[in-house]
Amino acid sequence: MTVTPHLFIPGPTNVPDAVRMAMNVPMEDMRSPEFPKFTLPVFEDLKKVFKMKDGRVFIFPSSGTGAWESAIENTLAVGDKVLMSRFGQFSLLWVDMAERMGLKVELCDEEWGTGVPLEKYADILAKDKNHEIKAVFATHNETATGVSSDIAGVRKALDAAKHPALLFVDGVSSVGSLDMRMGEWGVDCCVSGSQKGFMLPTGLGILAVSQKALDANKTQNGRMNRCFFSWEDMIKTNDLGYFPYTPATQLIRGLRASLDIIFAEGLDNVIARHHRLATGVRHAVDAWGLKLCAKEPKWHSDTVSAILVPEGFDSNAVVKTAYYRYNTSLGVGLNKVAGKVFRIGHLGALDEFMIGGVLFAVEMALKDSGINVKLGSGTGAAAEYFSKTATKSATAP
Ligand code: PLP
Repeated sequence: MTVTPHLFIPGPTNVPDAVRMAMNVPMEDMRSPEFPKFTLPVFEDLKKVFKMKDGRVFIFPSSGTGAWESAIENTLAVGDKVLMSRFGQFSLLWVDMAERMGLKVELCDEEWGTGVPLEKYADILAKDKNHEIKAVFATHNETATGVSSDIAGVRKALDAAKHPALLFVDGVSSVGSLDMRMGEWGVDCCVSGSQKGFMLPTGLGILAVSQKALDANKTQNGRMNRCFFSWEDMIKTNDLGYFPYTPATQLIRGLRASLDIIFAEGLDNVIARHHRLATGVRHAVDAWGLKLCAKEPKWHSDTVSAILVPEGFDSNAVVKTAYYRYNTSLGVGLNKVAGKVFRIGHLGALDEFMIGGVLFAVEMALKDSGINVKLGSGTGAAAEYFSKTATKSATAP
């Protein structure tokens, strides 16, 4: 029997059948007079997922990296100073991009397993009396280490210093799964992609921007060159329900279906489900006697757990064993944590049955790799927790 490998990497995530079927439609005319009736509500509904109070959302036919680039080049100028922190592969890549695009990065280099250093940010912002820092960057969920950061805390640091810098947040592995309150937290650019919480294939870079970011785009002092990712071109056509170039119509059809799924469950219920499933995974990790890469509970991510293997073991062996023996894809360790962690992605279309499945495979792969875990320990601990916290399904009598 051939079964598609069970996918538990932190994106791309499983695509629900309803989303897959919504994309299985004939090609359509993206300039038809009917097209805006489809696209304009999608733009509006996306704003609800980001909990925006103003601004707009752009949909680029790219991955999340394109949305990063778009945020930078549409608001900042070459030579602008920005405040960033690096504590995992994705925050690292964002710093790399900012430097390559000509920004002057004031960098907080943090231990991997920690997150955005709020006190350092507050200190640096308070000292920046001349407001040379034009934007503050924060990775909401560092997918490489399974670390979530406190974005409301970054807003507090900005407000305490009465600092006008823009706030840029990487929400690629958080939006649609963790709470993102752009409006309340004063986030100006929030970057996401289609292949994680939105439960779609890769191919859409989704960028939500505040009115303040749109104003910065107009008043940009010494603009950066831009073309494919230009907001001006997008705005001109998006306002009418069209795009400046050929949109990925099928992916946007899928996005419509995924938004419908999120709203049917209720966004806050989706977020609570992610928390519950992640807590189940963490119970299993404890029962195995293993540790998360995230150094403290405040950093625990509800979308991905990066699990350290004991000293002297290679996490790649666990990932390979899970893949070849148990047909299960786990995330590998990246860069500084390569060989040290394996990752379980627990975001998107998932329930406790699926979490039980991946824990079952991980438990066996750990044991097969020579790591001393008792079969049934982690799966049992998760089952205890899930059975205690189960709620009646909507269809139960
Ligand atoms: N930021 C984070 C936190 C990510 O997890 C990823 C990808 O996994 C990216 C950025 C890059 O996004 P993409 O691969 O969609 O370009």
